[in-house]
Amino acid sequence: MGKVAVVTGGSRGLGKAAVLALAKRGVDTIFTYHRNATAAHAVVAQVQALGAKAQALHLDVSKPETLDDFVITLHTALREWNVSTFDFLVNNAGIGSYSTAADTSVELLDTMYAIHLKSVFLLVQKTLDTITDGGRILNVSTGLTRFVGPGHIAYACIKGAIEVYTRYLAQELGPRKITVNVIAPGATATDFNGGAVRDNEVYNKAVSNAVALGRPGQAEEIGDAVACLLSDECRWINGERVEVSGGQRL
Ligand code: NDP
Repeated sequence: MGKVAVVTGGSRGLGKAAVLALAKRGVDTIFTYHRNATAAHAVVAQVQALGAKAQALHLDVSKPETLDDFVITLHTALREWNVSTFDFLVNNAGIGSYSTAADTSVELLDTMYAIHLKSVFLLVQKTLDTITDGGRILNVSTGLTRFVGPGHIAYACIKGAIEVYTRYLAQELGPRKITVNVIAPGATATDFNGGAVRDNEVYNKAVSNAVALGRPGQAEEIGDAVACLLSDECRWINGERVEVSGGQRL
């Protein structure tokens, strides 16, 4: 029986790249989308063309109260493949934000918390009995927890919390031989933050100057790193924050 992954936010960007990288390694994936059902269905077709299986489910991580219903849908999706558990959980879905300490609204803070911490915490809690012993959980943080990007204070603080969560969870799940790590991508050319890294020439140049390898990352480079961290070769990496940035702000 092949491995099964669950990836949040697999319709675009880093999540999509991770789903495709996993498919190339023979891993079947149930991934989620929020607004882009059409893009999600295109990813399912791309996975199938690679010889693996995928299902796309709707999920809104800004509404943690919907997670119980989502988990029921997830169980149904697993049953369609005649399995009751999955091997890898990648908590990737998310959005950025731009505000200062002075002008961050309560609403923005609550949204960042709901998307980047509360939903991850609760999705793990609600799927713990569905993750195979010996499985993997990979959370997604950001380089911005190590270096400061002006205006990213709310986003980066809450991503920082997911790094602490990762270490605690790794300790708790050790007896079940489940590893828990957090990948911290550097600036990567996706739709994220309105596509700023990819489309804003000034920002793109500033990022390129700050990266040892001289350019922003591409989604496929993060997708490959995700698949790599989930592979058997990385089985002894646990409780770690792995930055994948081409060497940003060394
Ligand atoms: P994209 O904007 O390209 O893709 C975001 C993905 O998340 C999409 O699949 C989207 O679904 C989904 N999503 C967005 N909002 C919600 C929501 N409320 N509920 C459920 N799903 C949602 O972003 P990236 O791929 O670049 O970012 C992915 C992750 O990587 C995020 O956690 C981000 O913080 C992190 N990251 C990104 C970096 C970058 O430079 N790109 C750098 C460091 C970290 P849909 O398509 O249906 O809208």
